[in-house]
This record gives sequence, C-alpha cells and structure tokens, in this order.
Amino acid sequence: MHSTPQSFRAMCATRITSPDDPALDQLCAELAELANELDLTGAWPQRQLQLCAEYGVYEWFLAPQWGGQAWDDEKVVRGYLALSSACLTTTFILTQRTGACRRIASSGNLAAQDFLLPDLVSGKLMATVGISHLTTSRRHLATPVLRAERADGGYLLNGFAPWVTGAAQSAYVIVGATMMEADDPTPEELLIALPSDLPGVSADEPARLVGLGASHTGQLQLQDVFVEDRWVLAGPVENVMSVGSGAGAGGYQTSTLALGLTRSALGFLGQQSTQRTELGTPLDALQEDFDEVSELLFSVVRGQPDCSSEQLRKRANSLALRAAQAALAAAKGTGYITGHPAGRWCREALFFLVWSCPQPVLAANLCELAGIASD
Ligand SMILES: Cc1cc2nc3c(=O)[nH]c(=O)nc-3n(C[C@H](O)[C@H](O)[C@H](O)COP(=O)(O)OP(=O)(O)OC[C@H]3O[C@@H](n4cnc5c(N)ncnc54)[C@H](O)[C@@H]3O)c2cc1C
Repeated sequence: MHSTPQSFRAMCATRITSPDDPALDQLCAELAELANELDLTGAWPQRQLQLCAEYGVYEWFLAPQWGGQAWDDEKVVRGYLALSSACLTTTFILTQRTGACRRIASSGNLAAQDFLLPDLVSGKLMATVGISHLTTSRRHLATPVLRAERADGGYLLNGFAPWVTGAAQSAYVIVGATMMEADDPTPEELLIALPSDLPGVSADEPARLVGLGASHTGQLQLQDVFVEDRWVLAGPVENVMSVGSGAGAGGYQTSTLALGLTRSALGFLGQQSTQRTELGTPLDALQEDFDEVSELLFSVVRGQPDCSSEQLRKRANSLALRAAQAALAAAKGTGYITGHPAGRWCREALFFLVWSCPQPVLAANLCELAGIASD
C-alpha cells in the first residue's frame, strides 16, 4: 500500500458530497481564478489537482470500499459541468485520471484494485490512460503502434502510445497493446496498468497544443518493456476496450465538457449584455440551444435517450464552437489579446473537434462545418 488515505484526507478542508454542495462552488471559484494563468504558463496544474484531492473530487467516481462516494452518473455529470465551466484543462485531466481508475475498478484484477485504488481515491497517486490507439488514433496503420508478445511470467511491450495526458506526472498509465500474432486479421489486445518507472518506459516532451497545453499530453515510448502478469487488467482478448468500463471513445463525457465550456462563454455574454442590449437576442438563442442540448445530455445519462450519443456530441461541439466565438465577437479586439478568456475558450472549443472522436462524430462535425445535413 502506498500510504494511509485517511492521514492524507485529514488535511482536507471541505469535502464535496453532492453537486448541490456549496463547497463545489467554492472549488470552482478557486479553479476559475487560476484558469487564465494556467493557459498562459502551460505549467502542469499541480495546485488545481491538489485542490481536487482536498475537496474529495476523486472520491466521486469510486465505490466506498476504496474510500469513494460512488456518485451516480447524473451527479457525476453535474459535477463535471460545474468543474469544466471553471477550468477545462483541469477537468479534462480529471476525466483521463477517472478513466484509468474505472478501468482498474472494473477489471477482474483484485490485487491491482487493492494496491492502487485507495491511493487514487485519496489523491496520493496519479494515473492516466493511453488507449486511443485502440479506438480513435492510428487506426488506419497496418502495424499496431504498441505491440505485445508473451514472455515468461508476463508480456514484452514495444512501440508507443500516441496520446497520454500527464504521462510524466503519472505513476501508472493504463495502456492498450495489440498481441503480435502472424497474419491474424483480428488480433487480441491487452489492457495493462503500466508502472511508469519500469525500465524502457519514457515520456516524450509534451506536444505543443493549440489549447489545453497544461494537460502535458504527449507520446509514451515503450522499448522492450517487460510487464509482469500481475499488472494485466484485461485480455488478451479481441476488442479489449469493450471489456469493463472506463474511458471509451465518443461517450457523453466529452459532450458534458463541451457544455461546461459553453456555460463559461454564455456567462461572459450574460455579464456583457447587462450594459449592451444588442447582445440580448444572440444570447437568448444560444441559451435556448444550451438548455435543449443539456436536456438531451441528461436524457442520454438517464438511459432514455432523445437522440444518439453521436447527435448529442455533434450538437454539443457545434454549440461550444459558436458560444466561444460569440464571446470573442462580444469581447472584440480586447478578447483577442492573449490572457483574455474569450480567446482561450475559442482555442479550447477546437479541442472537441478532435478529442475522442469516432468516425460517425467526425463525419457529423464535417457535415456541420460544410453546411450540409447529416443523419
Ligand atoms: C489534447 C489531447 C489530449 C489527449 N489525451 C489523450 C489521453 O490522455 N489518452 C488517450 O488515450 N488519448 C488521448 N487523446 C487522443 C484523442 O482522443 C484521439 O485519439 C486523437 O485526437 C486522434 O487523433 P490522431 O491525430 O491520433 O488521429 P489519426 O487517425 O491517427 O490521424 C493521424 C493523421 O493521419 C492521417 N489519417 C487519418 N486517417 C487516415 C486514413 N484513413 N488514411 C490516411 N491517413 C489518415 C491524418 O492526416 C491525421 O492527421 C488526446 C488527444 C488530444 C488532442
């Protein structure tokens, strides 16, 4: 065990116990205060993640047996909406961290759960995911980018995970790898909780991103890395991402964060419109769209969807892009100066065009941009 979560938690000021808790507003105010500087410096948001630990945010997603509060899906979505409206970068990192936790929790690997989850819940430990090459990245290449071979007592990994947020800051990376079997058209895949200090593992310098640069996302290189069987979470099996749950591609979580960003932009427009009546009509139209897309989101979360998750994502993406640009138009040249949130929101909104976008979502985005109808 890495530490006693209780002793760490003793430092906590106020733990957030529901999305209606005033402590959530308090945390959001602190995150929002730091958001512009985070964008300007691009430094890893250590302070923000520490605040999330102190406010008990990491507890929301996991069961009480690990020290969690096990919020239901609707509460989690409301929490994510509030946080992403305050600081998209911190919330995005949180989604990757939570994806890792959920993959561990839903695996059959009880020893890994016992060893990792209490410290992940308390915030003592950081983990992330490097799985996009099994879903939305490098899928058109003939050779898988991260390959596994059976070795005595474990697996030998070679290649790279193309996208890993917070790779250098994470003690464990949940990585997907493809088994190298000659001429197998549907090779089996593995999901591993990779200790990042194993020999042969190295994080590249983070990529320089258009937005969310402080997420420190980059490639994770693996050269002849031997991983013991005890770190395997799932597989080898075909389509390992369909086993258990966690950070899948194209789910409603991405739409939730797009709506969170929209909410910030609408807040700015609302503030401006108190002195500028001409902003009233566009603000009302965007707000109406926001209310509709929010309703769609919660219908999907409740399992009684009024639309497919692709349609939800398409509308959420479109809304985030339009609301951010409306905020910039209202902020005028002042908003185009680095450091103004409206310019940052525009860059951040572009992220939703590329983050975890399965082909149908990409196709719908392109139709929207081309001004043609999609299904
Ligand atoms: C900021 C950021 C953070 C991220 N964090 C994570 C993370 O923590 N964990 C994680 O698992 N994933 C993460 N992702 C990955 C993300 O979810 C997507 O998988 C990723 O954006 C896909 O982009 P890609 O360029 O790798 O796609 P690819 O499909 O690999 O495209 C790469 C290039 O290949 C070309 N290409 C694409 N398709 C074809 C084709 N059919 N034929 C020929 N050429 C083609 C295009 O020119 C394209 O630019 C992150 C992404 C971003 C941008």
